[in-house]
Amino acid sequence: MARVYNFSAGPSMLPEAVLQRAAAEMLDYNGSGQSVMEMSHRSKVYEEIINGCEALLREVMQIPDNYKVLFLQGGASSQFAMLPLNLMNGSGKADFVITGQWANKAYQEASRYGEANVIASSKDKTFSYIPKLDPATFTKDADYFHICMNNTIYGTVYHELPDTGDVPLVADISSCILSEPIDVSRFGVLYAGAQKNMAPAGMTVVIIREDLIGKARDITPTMFNYQIHADNGSMYNTPPCYTIYMAKLVLEWLKNEIGGLENMKAINEKKAGLLYDFLDNSKMFRGTVVAEDRSLMNVPFVTGNEELDALFVKEAAAAGFVNLKGHRSVGGMRASIYNAMPVEGVEKLVAFMKAFEEAHS
Ligand SMILES: *Cc1c(COP(=O)(O)O)cnc(C)c1O
Repeated sequence: MARVYNFSAGPSMLPEAVLQRAAAEMLDYNGSGQSVMEMSHRSKVYEEIINGCEALLREVMQIPDNYKVLFLQGGASSQFAMLPLNLMNGSGKADFVITGQWANKAYQEASRYGEANVIASSKDKTFSYIPKLDPATFTKDADYFHICMNNTIYGTVYHELPDTGDVPLVADISSCILSEPIDVSRFGVLYAGAQKNMAPAGMTVVIIREDLIGKARDITPTMFNYQIHADNGSMYNTPPCYTIYMAKLVLEWLKNEIGGLENMKAINEKKAGLLYDFLDNSKMFRGTVVAEDRSLMNVPFVTGNEELDALFVKEAAAAGFVNLKGHRSVGGMRASIYNAMPVEGVEKLVAFMKAFEEAHS
């Protein structure tokens, strides 16, 4: 069986060793005589899976004890509403930096609940950079300050965090969670959909400082209240059981095979470096993001000729490099090179791009 190199932005590749392990355990998990898909979420055997997943996430990400970890459903997109419902209940204000579509959705949703302020935006240049931020322009009494850390569609990332003082910094880390170490203590809330870098679709991880729990508005739906999920260990209702199990396998792989987030970062830097070096030296292809804000995870690029872009995507797919078409709002190509993409996959893509360039120039 030939597996392709899948450059999808999400859902995306999973480590092959993890898929094999899941396959081996599909019919009989650990001598239980059941698949994890079939288990009661209240059973002892499942309790070990969800608790093990949380313990591993805490260990790998070095999450401080005063943070709760929640495994929720509804995607990262539900957080755009959960955040204002739960946090925008003091001054009723929150600050936003608009670095792309996801950041903008978080802003628009919050605008329905209170005073959402746009501090800066990079829309003027198709979100190809991270705006420079001046703390003097931040809302002093905001209930939170929201950023989208890695901008999946546009391929930008914050290399420096805004200094928000006492205002809790909230970050969407859907497309960069587990890609490198992150200082959790700098944030009030971190959240991420699983399907980019952690597991299959179906789960959203929320990492929230304990003092931010318990402030929800009265109208908050029960299922949207962080307190409910925190008090019930993410088991108020049926959690996304199988995705949590898959996340546990991915975390075991990260810890035992990769050796933790420092090593993962080195591998990701190597992969991104291969691609950016090629783009910087190519006469046909170029990256679309300013050099200092480039993402390690999502690498958009163009030839400058739409027909050539389309031909490249088509020939690449035929050669086993799939899902390289860029997001419709940017055009061109995008290679998403999350943790599970092996170095070899990027080396081979670069070799293919070189050959394409020679053949078509
Ligand atoms: C994919 C993505 C989302 C949307 O996630 P869903 O789980 O589909 O709601 C939000 N933010 C970022 C940064 C993403 O990459």
